Formats: sequence, structure tokens, C-alpha cells
Amino acid sequence: MIDTHAHYDDEAFEQDRDVLLGAFPQRGIEAVINSGASVDSSLIGLELSRRWPWVYCALGVHPNHVTELTDEILEHFAELSAFRKVVAIGEIGLEYHYEDPGRELQAVWFRKQLQLAKKLGLPVIVHSRDAVQDTMDLMREERAEEIGGVIHCFSAGVEVAEQYVKMGFYLGIGGVVTFKNGKKMKEVVREMPIEAILLETDCPYLSPEPHRGTRNSSLNLPYIVREIAAIKGIHEQTVIDITKENALRCFPRLASVRGV
Ligand SMILES: [Zn+2]
Repeated sequence: MIDTHAHYDDEAFEQDRDVLLGAFPQRGIEAVINSGASVDSSLIGLELSRRWPWVYCALGVHPNHVTELTDEILEHFAELSAFRKVVAIGEIGLEYHYEDPGRELQAVWFRKQLQLAKKLGLPVIVHSRDAVQDTMDLMREERAEEIGGVIHCFSAGVEVAEQYVKMGFYLGIGGVVTFKNGKKMKEVVREMPIEAILLETDCPYLSPEPHRGTRNSSLNLPYIVREIAAIKGIHEQTVIDITKENALRCFPRLASVRGV
């Protein structure tokens, strides 16, 4: 299994990060992409990817942290991305549930980080919450179909899912799909082809049932696999195999470093 979205830089893992990451190969976790949320978390994620063979990273700043950004920092990210285990720019996007900072500033830095990804030839990891139309409009303006990547923790409906898939994007499916109130995500999983889906945890957040409310980790991926398999009426191993192929297609550097 490949966890395409995790935050192992988070202080929630301070006590047992090494034990946890060290156990992944024996627990069926083949690769993990640590997603940047702030400048610091991007840099820590990069260090983790240098240290652990199965950890990869994305460099990027979440919309709630873009006041940290400068053009110099983005240039620095560009230099750091020469390291082949930097597989994407992310997570970047629009967050209107917590409008801090305001929409205009979020949009400025979403655009600049999309442009950075395009320049570097890297896919993006997109965060979009309560901002469906603006995210789509901005991505179309920036010709995001030439960039590709994943809409992480996909929370919009089937119609929007279809538009993103047409643009060459994948849909990140995580713990929410196991929630009783996760009807929308369940519907997206039912209606969209398995070839469009990536597994993710967003850990330490969004633990799947039956562990909802506790600290999440990539070790919980099997609960997400089980739910997707049940919804689509296919074998769990099929979900694992196809989502792995999807991740390797979405993140070409992941495939090339692994020698696949
Ligand atoms: Zn995240």
C-alpha cells in the first residue's frame, strides 16, 4: 500500500516517529509521501525522506500558512527539489472553512505554487475545502491539466470529480470514506473508476472507523482499503494493486526512485 498523504513531521509523532516509520515495510506500507503544510514541515519532511528509504516528500505550503511564503522561499523549494525523493509540490490550495488569511492572499500563493510545479515538471497535491468553484476556476486559469496531481481528501461531488479526472487529476480517498456521515465520498468512490483513486491517510488527522478520533497513521490504510473494496464490490487486493499503480503514475519520481 502507498500512503499518498501523511504528516509525519507533526508533533503528534514526536514520541514514536522512528519506531512507527521503521515498522512500515513489515506492515505492508511500501511508500509514504509526507506532505508539506508549512515551510518548516516541508523541510522536516525532506529530512525524513533522506533518512527513510520508503518515505518521499512534497514541498509546499497549505493555504492557512501562506503568510510565511516569499518568492525567495519558493526559489529555495525549487533548489531542494533537485533531490529525487521530492515527488510533488503540496499541499497547496484554498481553505475557506478557516479563512485565515483571506481568500485573495490564498489565491496568490496557490497560483505561484502551481506555477512552480509547472516549471519543475512536478505534480501537485491540492487542498480544497469549501472552495469547490474557486479551486476549479483558478486551476483552469493556470492550465493545471498540464501539471497533474491529486485532489487530496476529495470532498466535492461526482460531477466535480469527473471534471478533475478529465483534467488528469486523481482523487485522494482517506478515512472520511469510512465515516457514517461520509456519504458524499462513498458516492464518489462508487461512481468513479478505481483507476482514478489514490489511498491516503492525512495522518495524524482523520482516523478511519473504528479508530475515529484517535491519532491516525499509515497503519490504518487497510480500513480504507476495506471500505473502498466493499463499496465497489471488488477484492481488497485489487484495490491495493490498482491504487499502487495509480500512485506510481501520478508521481513519476516515486516510480523512478523505486526502480519500477
Ligand atoms: Zn494534509
